[in-house]
Amino acid sequence: MKIAILSRNPSLYSTRRLIEAAEAAGHEVRVLDVLRCYMNINSEEPSIHYKGEDLGSFDAVIPRIGASVTFYGTAVLRQLEMMGVYPLNESVAISRSRDKLRSMQLLSRKKVGLPVTGFASKPSDIPDLLDMVGGAPVVLKLLEGTQGIGVVLAETRKAAESVLEAFMGLKTNIMVQEFIKEAGGADIRCLVIGDKVVAAMKRQGKEGEFRSNLHRGGSASLVRITPQERATAVLAAKTMGLNVAGVDLLRSERGPLVMEVNSSPGLEGVERATGKDVAHSIITFIEKSVAEKKKATRTR
Ligand code: ADP
Ligand code: GLU
Repeated sequence: MKIAILSRNPSLYSTRRLIEAAEAAGHEVRVLDVLRCYMNINSEEPSIHYKGEDLGSFDAVIPRIGASVTFYGTAVLRQLEMMGVYPLNESVAISRSRDKLRSMQLLSRKKVGLPVTGFASKPSDIPDLLDMVGGAPVVLKLLEGTQGIGVVLAETRKAAESVLEAFMGLKTNIMVQEFIKEAGGADIRCLVIGDKVVAAMKRQGKEGEFRSNLHRGGSASLVRITPQERATAVLAAKTMGLNVAGVDLLRSERGPLVMEVNSSPGLEGVERATGKDVAHSIITFIEKSVAEKKKATRTR
């Protein structure tokens, strides 16, 4: 097969591993910087040019679109979809997953376990909003944040009110979430491919830190997940319409709660912590999907 990888940097661990796994299986791989792809949008024959040449077509595309290039990256991916290329994750599902609030709403409709979450626009609604999520302590999250930046624990009601007021004043979207104390500064990252969790790791925040992000100094280890956690992760990915996803769960007293569904999960942490060859599983999934002539659905 001819496989395109949309990635801004071929030397990133995840990109390198996907190239290795695809080449090892005998496929031809081309890494494309999305920002260097430009499109000819017409009703006869959509095409993509790259640094002056017509790219031609591919059998499959692996999007690894960073949050900062979501808009342009999903447009390039959509163009490939229109050319009949099989997308590992399709453009609509990626756009959907990049909006935390929209994601939570979709998951709630499917009755996936979630931390109670509130969202408001006007400072005058803050008192009731805090009551709705059960009062302090609460976690406040900027909708645009990643890697734990923009996630704050407000231990008191006063602290929560002043942070919310400040961000609302700046017209920044911020959501309020029940604090899951019993998670103990840890979360579970489930790497979902199709309808399976192929690898799972526990991430533990460093001493005194409630955020478990590896970028914030957390550490990762192999973990055995329960059948309920497995089912929750698979349902979350499916609800988002993602074939491959990194589903982050908190272990709470009422069972697994989904915090986030990532459409371009990093492979380094999870492969190192679990010893699993996730890149190979991804390539195998693509081979199967292309053989079954799967296409982008664009039904949701
Ligand atoms: P980001 O997308 O920036 O990583 P997350 O929403 O995943 O932000 O939050 C970062 C970390 O903070 C999580 O991995 C988790 O450890 C912790 N965390 C987030 N929300 C909660 C919550 N409601 N209760 C307890 N811990 C939380
Ligand atoms: N780049 C990843 C994403 O935003 C974050 C890394 C990860 O959490 O796996 O999808």
